[in-house]
Amino acid sequence: MNLDVNTLFQVTVYVEAILGLLLLFAWAQNMAIRAVAWWGFAHLIRASSIVLFGLYGSAPDVLTIDVANALLFTAFAVTWTGARVFDGRPVEPVYLVTGAVLWLLVSRLPVLTGAVDARAMVASGIITAYTWLTAWEFWRGRKEQLVSRWPAIFMLFAHGALFLLRTPMVTLLPFAMTSDKMFGSVWLTVLSFEALLFTISIAFILLAMAKERTELRHRTAAMIDPLTGIANRRAFLQEAAEMARRHGSDPRPAAVMLIDLDHFKSINDRFGHAVGDRVLEIFTAAAGESMRSSDLFGRIGGEEFAVILHDTRADEAFTVAQRIRETFADVASEVDGRPVAATVSIGMVHCDGPALDIVELLSQADQALYFAKENGRNRVEVASLELVLGQRDGTSLAAAAPAQAARTAA
Ligand code: GH3
Ligand code: MG
Ligand code: MG
Repeated sequence: MNLDVNTLFQVTVYVEAILGLLLLFAWAQNMAIRAVAWWGFAHLIRASSIVLFGLYGSAPDVLTIDVANALLFTAFAVTWTGARVFDGRPVEPVYLVTGAVLWLLVSRLPVLTGAVDARAMVASGIITAYTWLTAWEFWRGRKEQLVSRWPAIFMLFAHGALFLLRTPMVTLLPFAMTSDKMFGSVWLTVLSFEALLFTISIAFILLAMAKERTELRHRTAAMIDPLTGIANRRAFLQEAAEMARRHGSDPRPAAVMLIDLDHFKSINDRFGHAVGDRVLEIFTAAAGESMRSSDLFGRIGGEEFAVILHDTRADEAFTVAQRIRETFADVASEVDGRPVAATVSIGMVHCDGPALDIVELLSQADQALYFAKENGRNRVEVASLELVLGQRDGTSLAAAAPAQAARTAA
């Protein structure tokens, strides 16, 4: 394949400019992700630097080499800054122009004036530094699980590595470019072509990352209770259904709990809604600490929570329920200096069977919760095993209900 470098230059200018404008257009539609604007500007700056490179020979070298390179490095620095902004890190104005300033100073050193290879080495080093820094920023933010983060890291790393290898490759290989036939060099064609492919792919991947984040945030907002940060009713039921499916192929004993704050309306009335909200947060933290991260915990109503403990024996589950009740009573006795003395009532049911019928178990836990309230609150009631077996034998819930107070604690 024979590609004329000048044509490639022109195509690259158009592509960079179009990608820059497209990214800015995407940002204008969703300004929440500011990094997209940084990335758009990076492409526009790179387009302008390539315009200057293309004027080589017909404009002063200071413009077509020095300023063009300075702009090119700034473009990579802007992409890097975009990656920092994307993951909530501050803009570093000094490092944004470090590459360009370094280049303008170094290229003026008398020893480098005629040394094409050494100058190329410095230029490659700056580009590699910025692309690897960009890859590193994305790597640092990997806790946020975006699939498109990985191709972005890989591409940036590979592009940086290629630039770093450029100078040794150029000097070692037989058809090395020499300064006088620079524009005819095979290597320049290869590198320009790679740069074009890179710029198209990276623009696409960066945009995909921004889009993926927006979707992830919408999904999360639809599933997470904003006050407590745990699963909302919808998410809880969805995850419980998923757990029941897994239970089908690998049955383990499990327990379902319904937890309701006692006299919560009165807490709101006496101390205000804000203190009520604090109590809900305190409960979430206390309960969360009393269970494993693999347990399912959700806020299924205003002051009502549900828990599923998987792979847990009945006595273990009862201990967890008691721990939740006691820990919360402890930490909620005083809230923001007010004698709130909040407590919870817990209804629990244990399941040893081959199927985890979530709806049925929640309804039995609800019955047990009703008894906990009836029997004085701040207590755990367990729907008895006889009840569960009775259910399976066809005994009606109402008939079996009196047996529920089998195991209580206050
Ligand atoms: P019981 O012990 O029988 O459960 O009595 P209760 O007062 O807790 O029960 P009730 O269902 O009558 O009251 C629940 C209250 O919870 C009423 C509602 O205003 C309050 N509530 C629901 N959601 C929130 C919330 O997000 N924040 C606050 N502060 N209060 C809430
Ligand atoms: Mg209540
Ligand atoms: Mg309630």
